[in-house]
Amino acid sequence: MKTWFISDLHLDVNRPEIIQFFLEFLDDIKPQADAVYILGDLFEYWIGDDMLELSIFKPFSSVISKLKSLSDANVKLYFIAGNRDFLIADSFANKTACKLLPDEKVIDLYSVPTLIMHGDTLCTDDVEYLKLREMLRSKAWQDNFLSLPIEERMQQAQALRDSSKKEMKNKAEEILDVNQITVENTMQQQGVLQLIHGHTHRMATHHFQLNKQAAHRIVLGDWYNAPHFLSVDKSGFTLR
Ligand code: MN
Repeated sequence: MKTWFISDLHLDVNRPEIIQFFLEFLDDIKPQADAVYILGDLFEYWIGDDMLELSIFKPFSSVISKLKSLSDANVKLYFIAGNRDFLIADSFANKTACKLLPDEKVIDLYSVPTLIMHGDTLCTDDVEYLKLREMLRSKAWQDNFLSLPIEERMQQAQALRDSSKKEMKNKAEEILDVNQITVENTMQQQGVLQLIHGHTHRMATHHFQLNKQAAHRIVLGDWYNAPHFLSVDKSGFTLR
C-alpha cells in the first residue's frame, strides 16, 4: 500500500482529457492506496462549492463521485488549498469525504515527519502575489465574493487569472520559484527534514543541509501534458 501526493492538475471543463486522466489515475491507484493527498490547484479555478450546480461544471460531477468512491473503499483523502481553489469548502469536502487540511501540515509519512503544503507561501520573492493572497484569503473578501451571483464571480475569477498571467510574464523565473531561506525557515519552524509541495510546477527533488542534517524538498509536477505524482511506501519514493 502506498501514499500518493498530487497537485496542480488544474482541472478545467475546457480540457476534458485531463479530467479523464484523473479519473483513470484514481481507478489505477485505488487498490493500492492508503491515502491520497491533493496539495492544491486540483481545479483551474473554484468560485464556491455552489458552482457545481451550474450545468457547465457538470463534468466535475464525475470527479466528485470518483473521489467519493475512493473514500468508500477506505482510501483516506486529504486536500490542501492552492491559489486557484482556495474557496473549496465543506460542501465539497462532504460530497467527496475528503478532509480539508490547513495551509501547512506535518504528517507522519512512514515514520518520517513530513511537511506538506501547496507551496505558494514559499515564493516570498513575489511580494505582489503575497499581498494579493492576503486579500483573497481574508474572510471579508471571501464573504463578499461568495455573496455575488455566480456569473459575476466567474467574470471576476477570469479577470484575476488574466491579470496573473500578464504579471507572470513580466516576472523573472527566480521570483516565481521558492525562496530557499523561506524554505529552510519554514522547515525549521515545523521541525522537519522533509518537505513536499507543488505550485511551481518544477518537478524535482532538492537536497540540502539543514542544521547540518540532510534535508530534502520534493516538488510535484503539474498535469498540463500528463499525470504526475509522488508515491511513497516503506521502501521509498517514486516521483514521476
Ligand atoms: Mn498554485
